[in-house]
Amino acid sequence: MRNRRGSPINANNGTSDKDEENQPRPKISAASMRRLLVLVKPYWLRLVWAGIAMLVSSLSSLVFPAVTGSLIDTVFLKHDGNTLNNIALLMAVVFLIQAIFVYIQSYMISWAGERVVADLRLKLYRHTQSLSVNFFNEHRTGELMSRFTNDVTTVQSAVTNNLISFFQNIVTLSGAIFIIVLTDWRLTLLILAAVPLITITAFLFGRWLRKISNRVQTQIGEATTILEETISNERTVKAFTREDYELKRYSSGVQEIFNITLQSTRIRSLFSSTMVLVTFEAVVLVLWYGGREVLAGTISPGQLIGFLAYMGIVGGQIGSLTGVYSGFQLALGGSQRIFELLDTVPQVVDMSDALPLPPVRGDLRFENVSFSYNDETQVLDNVSFRAAPGEVVALVGPSGAGKTTTISLIPRFYDPTAGRITLDGYDIKTVQSRSVREQIGVVPQEPVLFGMSIQDNILYGRLDATFAEVEAAARAANAHEFVVKLPKGYDSLVGERGVKLSSGQRQRIAIARALLRDPRILILDEATSALDNESESLVQEALDRLMRDRTTIVIAHRLTTIEKADRIVVMDDGRVVEEGTHSELLQREGLYYRLYTRNFEQVMSV
Ligand code: ADP
Repeated sequence: MRNRRGSPINANNGTSDKDEENQPRPKISAASMRRLLVLVKPYWLRLVWAGIAMLVSSLSSLVFPAVTGSLIDTVFLKHDGNTLNNIALLMAVVFLIQAIFVYIQSYMISWAGERVVADLRLKLYRHTQSLSVNFFNEHRTGELMSRFTNDVTTVQSAVTNNLISFFQNIVTLSGAIFIIVLTDWRLTLLILAAVPLITITAFLFGRWLRKISNRVQTQIGEATTILEETISNERTVKAFTREDYELKRYSSGVQEIFNITLQSTRIRSLFSSTMVLVTFEAVVLVLWYGGREVLAGTISPGQLIGFLAYMGIVGGQIGSLTGVYSGFQLALGGSQRIFELLDTVPQVVDMSDALPLPPVRGDLRFENVSFSYNDETQVLDNVSFRAAPGEVVALVGPSGAGKTTTISLIPRFYDPTAGRITLDGYDIKTVQSRSVREQIGVVPQEPVLFGMSIQDNILYGRLDATFAEVEAAARAANAHEFVVKLPKGYDSLVGERGVKLSSGQRQRIAIARALLRDPRILILDEATSALDNESESLVQEALDRLMRDRTTIVIAHRLTTIEKADRIVVMDDGRVVEEGTHSELLQREGLYYRLYTRNFEQVMSV
């Protein structure tokens, strides 16, 4: 089916890219934080292990300053060599224990983090697959890809590293503060004066960062889109020698990312240096005030050194906490885009009481069907026609008449806005869409094969088919002959890393795929580009076999197909204007006659 990427349209479920950018983003709420935590929940046990390991390693880091203090007071001032030995041994053991627990902590966190990323990607993929066709018309591939890659990774850090660091900082910080309060509460008060200053700064910087982060992610999405578009349309780019033009487009996207990221880096750097400044000024203050106390004999030199060392820890932990905070802000920005995608509801949904469609004979009816993509322009207007079981109905009409739209409604890619489509009397809207699609085979205009083996590509029609069935389908589709001539036969890979097939060969593989599916209803979008004579007749023959005994709706461009059709439905401007057989329609001398006499193939195949 033709893939249209028209201008973004506001449908029920989504806003266009532009709108998303312009809309103020909703505030990060406790709810989105909760949703993030839900992702980690299945792995809570590992996080508990990580937490315990973290507790041990953080507490062990608190031993060092205390030991330094006593080193000065007992060892150096009293010249006690034995204590020095004991202290050295103790420290060696403490650091060993710390190393072991740091390893456990880091491994467990990474494990949970990678698992959450994998889960999130799968969840996103599953959800994206459940969305309706219109969603993919309205969202650009690159932008979607970027949510699967960049946004997911930003979330990873929020739910794992940041979370654990947060607790680690809190534990170490509380321990260090507890110890310094015990050592000298007056000195402690001096330090605590800096806390509100730090908190307010962190809060302001955090908000700023989050805004920037959203812009960075949106811009990455934009650039990825340009990349995806040009790579997949490289032929067009080359044919029009637009390499430089595209380079300019991409580089302006990349430059924009650079600019915004730079802004974010500037904020971060300013943030950390402010924090360092505040911390060290406080150290100086303590050094000065504490030094006076040592001179006055109120505290020992060892106590002051220990105190300063703990202050270093407090400063370090606060610095790291602010890092964690800005990390959270960045990640929450990314998670918002992910949740947005997860919250998109499919437009075509089955009714809650929908039953599967039983196997049909293939009686297809359009009853006064109207349709509009965007509630503004009516694309189909009161379309009615019937295809009896086994009949071939050809849809013809000028480009833009609504033929593609008509066939898209049969597998329920969209639901009609008025009227109904029935299969053997069942309104397809009232049965499970999956069961409708399972009885439909589609051969698109430009068949797209997947980068797997030829056999797997044919099996796509029916996964449980045997090799003999695949081969039989390929024979009937006139594909077997050329497939066995390939170096690896049915195991030959198709596409970038494998064999390149001609357009006629790809069509025959697509026909084999549809034959294997053996559907009651066949939808055919005939290729407009002419094949060479031999290929053409092989494809035509294969199609004739495929159409036999099935209800076929074909967007016809070839005169031979049209002449053979049981009925021709002539469409113009979203309406059915004429209906009949080739000779009946010629006699009527209406639109069909005019199209026919003005060289069918050219007019119809635009
Ligand atoms: P045909 O197959 O006969 O050339 P189409 O069914 O493709 O006609 O298109 C009918 C009309 O619907 C055209 O005006 C086209 O611009 C419009 N249209 C097609 N696809 C979309 C879409 N995804 N969103 C909005 N309008 C669309």
